Amino acid sequence: MAFFEMAKTAILTTLKRPSTRRYPAVPAKVTPLSRGKVVIDPARCISCGMCMKKCPSGAICVVKDEKTWSIDRLKCVVCNCCVDVCPVHCLTMETGYSPSMTRHQGVEVIPITYVKPERPPRKEPDEKGGQDS
Ligand code: SF4
Ligand code: SF4
Repeated sequence: MAFFEMAKTAILTTLKRPSTRRYPAVPAKVTPLSRGKVVIDPARCISCGMCMKKCPSGAICVVKDEKTWSIDRLKCVVCNCCVDVCPVHCLTMETGYSPSMTRHQGVEVIPITYVKPERPPRKEPDEKGGQDS
């Protein structure tokens, strides 16, 4: 009985269209929830290092003094943790898939261009106000 079930499944499977795509020969199906690659807006990154701390594979490195954010794409497991924890939302997950890598292409280093806005000058205490009371 099991043999007939198996034969039936095998025949039906041969007659049906494949359920998978021949990626990368055929472009992958992209949906709004697809995870392609992490991208940063360097003009908004405040170098807090949260993404580096939370990355489970150690793919991200933030060097505050040098103002650089780097990612090793071969280490990235596309878990989205860094995107979720970034306090200023300067990381996003691109939906498009990157071409598959056949060798390590090095670490991508991105200079952080964020400039901390200057604090408005402190108001001097009103001399009269201090003496009146
Ligand atoms: S998506 Fe995940 S693995 Fe990739 S850099 Fe972000 S935290 Fe690390
Ligand atoms: S990308 Fe976001 S979480 Fe990472 S250092 Fe910059 S501001 Fe912090």
